[in-house]
Amino acid sequence: MTKTDRTVLVVEDEEKLAALLRDYLEAAGFGVHCLYRADEVMPWLSSHDADLIILDLMLPGGDGLNLCNDIRHAFPIPIIMSTARVEEADRLRGLESGADDYVCKPYSLREMVARVKAMFRRMERTPFPRENSPVSPFTVDPARMTIRVQGQPLDLTRVEYRLLSHLLEQPGVVFSRDALLNIIYDDYRLVCERTIDSHIKNLRRKLAPHCPGKQIIHSVYGAGYRFDPE
Ligand code: CA
Repeated sequence: MTKTDRTVLVVEDEEKLAALLRDYLEAAGFGVHCLYRADEVMPWLSSHDADLIILDLMLPGGDGLNLCNDIRHAFPIPIIMSTARVEEADRLRGLESGADDYVCKPYSLREMVARVKAMFRRMERTPFPRENSPVSPFTVDPARMTIRVQGQPLDLTRVEYRLLSHLLEQPGVVFSRDALLNIIYDDYRLVCERTIDSHIKNLRRKLAPHCPGKQIIHSVYGAGYRFDPE
């Protein structure tokens, strides 16, 4: 396997699992650094570079969700959250905390490596190279993965960016939940369709202050979602 210059930070207190992740990720060509406590992460990130973080939810030394939020606000690094808590509420909280992907334990190491690769592929893609319509209030910047509404930047996770940029690309077109999952996750076997509803809910909440009184992402009963600013 060719060596990449990507570094993955693994934050995992199960040392055996952390060591296995290191072996698998290194075999796939990634650089790996392991941390075993929540309170080590922000100090480490302030003086080192990571391109992606695999973050366990339950860690000694702090709350994984708060940590996810802190990372999200301080560093533009995608986060794959892993946890043994499988309840739906925790899945949604995980997504709302800003994680870009979410994997339930026990997961296969191959699966995790596949997700890491998929995340890097998504970061490299530039899905929205075309010029924005001059009348559209939305500006998409694929290089920075940002979307602005009338010049105001939206604070989006990478998954939300992918979702919204795809909807913006084809206004008026109805996309099924399945199609949208396919767009935002390369491998979505572990993700349920309700995940899309959660992302859409978050997107609507983030768009609302910029588009008062307007519903921009429409639910189409029995079919899916459609972007329509009119
Ligand atoms: Ca743990």
